Amino acid sequence: MSISRKEFLLIAAGGLLTASSQKQETRIMTITGPIKASEMGKTLIHEHFLVDFIGADKINYNRWNRDDVVKKVLPYLQEVKQHGVKTIFDCTPAYLGRDIILLKTLSDKSGIQIVTNTGYYGAVDNKYLPPHAFTETAEQLASRWIAEFEKGIEGTNSKPGFMKISVNPGSLSELHKKLVRAAGITHLATGLTICSHTGPAIPAMEEIELLKANRIDPSAFVWVHAQAEKDKDFHQKAASLGSWVSLDGIAWGDYDNYADSILRLKNANLLNRVLISHDAGWYKPEETGGGNFTGFTNIFTQLLPILESKGFTKADVEQLLVKNPAEAFEIS
Ligand SMILES: [Zn+2]
Repeated sequence: MSISRKEFLLIAAGGLLTASSQKQETRIMTITGPIKASEMGKTLIHEHFLVDFIGADKINYNRWNRDDVVKKVLPYLQEVKQHGVKTIFDCTPAYLGRDIILLKTLSDKSGIQIVTNTGYYGAVDNKYLPPHAFTETAEQLASRWIAEFEKGIEGTNSKPGFMKISVNPGSLSELHKKLVRAAGITHLATGLTICSHTGPAIPAMEEIELLKANRIDPSAFVWVHAQAEKDKDFHQKAASLGSWVSLDGIAWGDYDNYADSILRLKNANLLNRVLISHDAGWYKPEETGGGNFTGFTNIFTQLLPILESKGFTKADVEQLLVKNPAEAFEIS
């Protein structure tokens, strides 16, 4: 096909414009490489495709058959695509079933952009921590996580797009403080946002303070499972500090309570600090056929109708599912 000189010049100019705007635009790191934050679209920031709770001492990739997992999970990805979802964050960390080859296959077959994580999961009294997490310093742990971002995960070219750590529900132990410090070091080196499975406000506020003491802005921190804190004033407190408040168990009912929490934050002009997701899924290797799987649609079928009945606009929904995820996870 031949093109006119005028068309050629237009295309060339367009190419230059694209190249220069790409430089300035922040990125989201998916398992197949970086995309522009504006390409992320409607996003679920906390879901699971597979979780294996066997423990760090026994887990290995032979405990599940990837073809079986794909067969089970794919219809749920196709279902959520019907609701316009373009990107899903897989929050299963290493030693709990993070499987890059599985994630790549699911992404290829579904067309959903998948984002994976680096970091270690300290909750459940350290059952999911590898031995070196107990002995190494925060700097040494961080260097492992930074290497995954710089070189790729386990010999693949897939890089993490965020951090997933976790802590117990009470005041932070020394070990869990070390995980938070390691996450802070990794954030400063890579720009990756820190999602910490936390729950109640006591450890959440301690994490924010500890990060601040290490010169890390609260906006780099996502308070995961904030719905576990019943005193909703703490949601506002964390959001006012600039942290992200993740109300992320919407697969599991309690929709009016979620709507109330989100509405309070909106009324406090803090909707721009709220993240929502289902924490749904997942294939369970220890159960026949992977056990029961919960889909990723209750936000669309249950929660949004309640929010709309309370005056939520299209722009508010866009803020929750498109704008906030892009801002929370952009790597600048
Ligand atoms: Zn989760």
